[in-house]
Amino acid sequence: PCSAPLSSLHRKFLKELKLSCDYREAVVILRTLVPPRRFGDALQTVVEDEQGTCIYLRLYGPVVGAHIDHFLPEGSIVAVKAPWCQCNKNHGTAMVVQHLTDFVRLPQGGVLYPDKWNLSVPPSAPYTEALNIKPSGSLEIAIYSNRAQAHLATGAFEAAIVDETFVLSREPQHEKSLYRCAMGHYAMQNYAATIELLNSLIQAYPSNQTAQNDLQRATQRVKEQTTGAYDFSEMLKMLKVSRGPYPQIDVADYIGPMNQQANGFSATRNVTAGELLMCTKAFEFSYANINNFTIFYDSKTCLAANAAPLRLSRKIAQKLVSNPSYVPSLRELRRPSLTMVADFSDELVDGRPVIDDYLIESILKPHTFTMPCVHGTEHNYTGIGWSLKGSYIRHDCLGNCTRAVIGDVVFYRASRDIEIGAEILVPYVSAGMPVDKRQERLRSYGIYCTCRLCQSQLAESKPEMDKHRCTLLGTAPSIDQISENPVKAARELDELCTLLESTYVDPPTIHPRFSYTELLSSLSICCTMTGRRKKFLETLLRGLSAMGFEAQIDESGHLLVLRHGHCGPEVVWFAVMQASWLMSDGLASEAASWKAIAKKALDIQYGHRSFHTKPVTMGPIHPIDFSDFD
Ligand SMILES: [Zn+2]
Repeated sequence: PCSAPLSSLHRKFLKELKLSCDYREAVVILRTLVPPRRFGDALQTVVEDEQGTCIYLRLYGPVVGAHIDHFLPEGSIVAVKAPWCQCNKNHGTAMVVQHLTDFVRLPQGGVLYPDKWNLSVPPSAPYTEALNIKPSGSLEIAIYSNRAQAHLATGAFEAAIVDETFVLSREPQHEKSLYRCAMGHYAMQNYAATIELLNSLIQAYPSNQTAQNDLQRATQRVKEQTTGAYDFSEMLKMLKVSRGPYPQIDVADYIGPMNQQANGFSATRNVTAGELLMCTKAFEFSYANINNFTIFYDSKTCLAANAAPLRLSRKIAQKLVSNPSYVPSLRELRRPSLTMVADFSDELVDGRPVIDDYLIESILKPHTFTMPCVHGTEHNYTGIGWSLKGSYIRHDCLGNCTRAVIGDVVFYRASRDIEIGAEILVPYVSAGMPVDKRQERLRSYGIYCTCRLCQSQLAESKPEMDKHRCTLLGTAPSIDQISENPVKAARELDELCTLLESTYVDPPTIHPRFSYTELLSSLSICCTMTGRRKKFLETLLRGLSAMGFEAQIDESGHLLVLRHGHCGPEVVWFAVMQASWLMSDGLASEAASWKAIAKKALDIQYGHRSFHTKPVTMGPIHPIDFSDFD
């Protein structure tokens, strides 16, 4: 993007511009001749300059909202910084604007505003222009308050708060302003300010029921923000009534027992697996209709993507332009390997921050998360989201916390026990991916991972250990062979397990034995089929230990966990298997500790166990009733 203020740029006319040439120091002043139309992901309109030369203008910034006519009504006067024209075989010649902040609508009467066009143009911002005529008294107050409402509707919460604060300085009991200012603060998660404003409002207007309800909401948010106590059944309801493709949940962000330091977070006390470390709403998200797909294909990288990721970075750019106080936090996330455009600074240019859409895209890449698919009445949607606070948690291939998405909210829970002072780390890519593929993906994010899992796996792949492990796994009996002859299969699996175990060099706390636990699962199925109770329990304990757990059975037959290892899906499987068998034997008390582990592991993977939608099935042998699985 161009970071120079408008006044420092040279005026150019369209006839002076050559195709595909960079005019970094120039600006063109244009008038739109037709209402804008959507052009793929852009807005397109026809513009002329003062000499009467016409060209298509294609804007890639403003994708959000249906009110494109309001964004750029016919007859608007605009400035395009650093103009760039290109010719496309199918769509002809156009001036293309990639960065939202390179495009400025000029207010009437401003410095660059051509006299020639001074009449007959729609105001670029009606309320702002109305304020230019210096209204007084109640009219001025009404204009400020209405402009604040327009700001709220377009997501410019900071501007809305500024306008309403002005009104309240003149008229402290202005009902609408108290309410709108409160809602601006609510959107920015400043709940204390929201509550203060709503209390003043209710004091002056006790019958305002909307304010009463919102006060209740804000009080609930404060509770969530300070304690991390969320009502998950309420969230489930919010998701169900959420209309259209945008499942939004009204909850507050929460930061758990961790401290933010220059580089990421660390635990402020010992944390047990399953504990909530952070809950944060997506800063922005974007959905793509999967029944009517537009695919974007990058011929250089041969990667294809739907429109959602592209729109996400543009929506974020828009939100930053409207709420510049977020800019410094986003800038801090930039990795040293990414080239910093000198432009991405705190300084406002012509009253706005300069936002580089491309840089945002590269900053986002490792941190975006897929949102649950939404089934609308006519179409299905797939979404992608990004959280600002969550992006501060740094990467580790195994990590000690897991990210789960509910609606537009992300939950980070400890995926194993964490000691005080340890850094909180989350895997940006799946640890199940082969180490070379994983590292390649991370490198594309500008991350060069040397975590202990990477080190361990790279060291093992050298002495052909990995190959040996694959060969062993290839000889494991199939499901059919297991059901045909479980006794024989159990014997083979037992031998294989011992051989496989010896292929691991590092302890399971560093390198959880994923493929080994797969064999143990098969072995445990053989045990249930042949009714070998003791062997079954022994196999499950081996499984837990292969995931880095330290656990034993005490004298009364209860499971005692001394340390939680990596609580992956394998752990749910082991715990549910054992709980199921114990329950069917009427040993509810012994089953309880296994159930507790299953619940923990489900919370970790789904944010909360109530969002685990697939049934926890146990195979044909011991169906388990999970109705008490609250
Ligand atoms: Zn790694």
